[in-house]
Amino acid sequence: MNIILLGPPGAGKGTQSAGLVERHGMKQLSTGDMLRAAVKAQTPVGLEAKAVMDRGELVSDEIVSSLIDENLAAMEAGQGAIFDGYPRTAAQAADLDRILEKNGRSLDRVIELEVDVDALVERITGRFSCANCGALYHDTANPPSKEGVCDNCGSTEFKRRPDDNEETVRTRMAEYRAKTAPILPGYEERGIVSRVNGMDGIDEVAGAIDAILAK
Ligand code: ADP
Ligand code: ADP
Ligand code: ZN
Repeated sequence: MNIILLGPPGAGKGTQSAGLVERHGMKQLSTGDMLRAAVKAQTPVGLEAKAVMDRGELVSDEIVSSLIDENLAAMEAGQGAIFDGYPRTAAQAADLDRILEKNGRSLDRVIELEVDVDALVERITGRFSCANCGALYHDTANPPSKEGVCDNCGSTEFKRRPDDNEETVRTRMAEYRAKTAPILPGYEERGIVSRVNGMDGIDEVAGAIDAILAK
């Protein structure tokens, strides 16, 4: 199974990807995570991407598609891939078709997480993650069960993303509307789009995704 999780910033793509990795042994391919790793390591790609990400704009198609290409090629043939935050433009969608074909894979499902725009700012400004293992949390909707301690690894260090501020979020939402939402009709023509209500609780959304994958 190769699937795309599609939805605006804060829709729950990262949270649901982590669940799919855990439940089904799939691999999460998040271009956002790959770019943040490149920024941290100060690679040439990271140095180029940093300012763009801080503004909430999109990094070039060439950069993100080559990251996906490299990471997919390194995977075992039998393991399913979850594309999280990729593709985000029509050019990336075309790149993905080529990259999948080259790797002897095809796209099974595009799962769109539908959310109210009004909820997104609150989701994103409340987001934080474990500095050690990357587990995702939210101040009110999904805090660690013991305050200040990661459920997953016990770490007491957490971090917030520099681009998770209200102003940048607005730019990111505008980028989504202008460049990412328009790729959906192409997938719809192929009959592979399913929608889930991303406003439900995390476990309900996970159940809805599993039901789609079991079809
Ligand atoms: P994305 O990867 O689409 O940007 P995340 O998975 O990082 O979104 O989720 C954004 C924030 O919202 C996180 O703080 C996460 O804990 C929280 N969140 C995710 N799914 C839900 C949900 N179904 N209900 C409430 N909060 C959620
Ligand atoms: P979110 O889903 O919360 O918006 P991501 O972690 O997916 O955040 O992305 C963070 C930032 O990384 C984006 O705002 C953008 O600058 C860059 N980025 C991630 N994926 C892509 C992509 N596929 N194309 C272009 N830029 C990307
Ligand atoms: Zn942790």
